Amino acid sequence: MRVLLPFLASASLLAQLPSSTAPGPKVQETPLRAHLAFLADDLLEGRGTGQRGAELTVRYLETQLQSLGLSPAQGHTYRQPVSLLGLQTLVGRSTLSFLGGGACTTPKFGPEIVFGAGVAKAEQTFDAPVVFVGYGIDAPEYQWNDYKGLDVRGKILLMLVNEPAPTAVEPGLFDGANLSAYGRWTTKFEMAARHGATGVLLIHTTPSASYGWSVVRNGWDAERFSLAQGPVGAPLEGWVTEDLAKALVTLAGKELEALRAAAQQRGFQPVPLELTLKGTLHSTVRTVAQFNVAGVVPGTDPALKEELLIYSAHWDHLGKGGALAADSHPEPGGDTIYNGAVDNASGCAALLAMAQVARHAPAKRSQMFLFVCAEEQGLLGSKAYAAAPLWPLAKTAANLNLDSLNFVAPTRDIGLPFGDRSTLGELGAAVAMASGLSVGASRPDTSGGYFRSDHYSFVQAGVPALSVGGGRDYLGADGPALKAKAAAYGKRYHQVTDEYDPSWDLRGMVQQTQFTFDLGQAIANAATRPAFKAAR
Ligand SMILES: [Zn+2]
Repeated sequence: MRVLLPFLASASLLAQLPSSTAPGPKVQETPLRAHLAFLADDLLEGRGTGQRGAELTVRYLETQLQSLGLSPAQGHTYRQPVSLLGLQTLVGRSTLSFLGGGACTTPKFGPEIVFGAGVAKAEQTFDAPVVFVGYGIDAPEYQWNDYKGLDVRGKILLMLVNEPAPTAVEPGLFDGANLSAYGRWTTKFEMAARHGATGVLLIHTTPSASYGWSVVRNGWDAERFSLAQGPVGAPLEGWVTEDLAKALVTLAGKELEALRAAAQQRGFQPVPLELTLKGTLHSTVRTVAQFNVAGVVPGTDPALKEELLIYSAHWDHLGKGGALAADSHPEPGGDTIYNGAVDNASGCAALLAMAQVARHAPAKRSQMFLFVCAEEQGLLGSKAYAAAPLWPLAKTAANLNLDSLNFVAPTRDIGLPFGDRSTLGELGAAVAMASGLSVGASRPDTSGGYFRSDHYSFVQAGVPALSVGGGRDYLGADGPALKAKAAAYGKRYHQVTDEYDPSWDLRGMVQQTQFTFDLGQAIANAATRPAFKAAR
């Protein structure tokens, strides 16, 4: 094990840094950059689920695995089919109106409201009362129930996103400063459907959702997917802007602020509003086969090769939109392709670059390079994998996931978010030290990052897993400028502007990839397997 590098100042040392100082095979920048540039190219049309770009991406990934010499993970094929249900709102043929206080309002789809079917029905009509149900949380372990005796059948539930804040008396309420599973919007839809509600409308605010309205809107303008075998949703699902929510509640003779305040209390009671939703919803309905892509580097140890380490990255992004996005960088005429260069062409490129190295330096345990589909649709590909694994989960030692890598600069640190929930954190810290890296301080997970990438599907399936994060302590003459460059990505997240720039300094990406690979080698060669520590 090498000692921590002292402060690095000279340019020559900086230039050397991206190659890990740990011994062992090295990930190369050239293939990583080439894969990244290709996968983020307009030709791939944003790798949209159910779109042509998806077929091209899958074909590319399996070709690469084959040419690198990896074994197909399943018989003779690198593909694992995942059957998805696709639903898209036919906006021109769908209208929702709200009647209250003798007035009627019909909000605009897109700027004010987005909605779609949660069930496989091409045509639905609604005439239903609206009830405000606070955060829409039913959490027995916190003795919290916003539904309290309400029969939600035939009703539209209007609710807040996120969750009530912890208090001085209850600092651990809903996992304290972290967002708990109850605060996730997906959980709210699932819970409302389980209770039998006719519809759910979530009230957006940027702080509570952790992203702006445009991110919500981009998700609902397009076709939305769920697992074909998965649980069904409520007949109507959607989001409203905060301004529209205020207007609707006012129409019903109430104030949103008062309702929001009441919702912070455990004693909150559902509030029926003097408001009726009427309308028609037309949707396209189809089932479509998507694919996870996986190749294996067999282990070398006669016994341990039966066990597996999985590296994963999602290959899908948001695809090609129907309309020109408002933000038309870089083409002045507009852009319709959500390239997803950072999210997550970067992770796929990293996996391919690692597979290239692993092929010639196998470890004791077997290693799988798994490219999952439909992450942006709710981790569907990794959920499908966990439900029908290509290798027994009981013999799967760990999962290291990569999603949206560092495209800014090399760093002094590396991220091991939620590493403390298993022994992966300690192992990662040791590998970091051997590579001359510190582990970035963990921060409260206010936006639910824990649930928002594919490692979570493995955690739920009982496999220790984490997404290796990029560092934040940038090496370079102008630290604040590099930090600003990283922060500016927030504006490009899930927008057409998440595009590859050939001028990117990829040394940080190589560093993050190398670290992931080194950690993977440590796991794949260790005498014992990683284990969970805390509640998952
Ligand atoms: Zn994403």
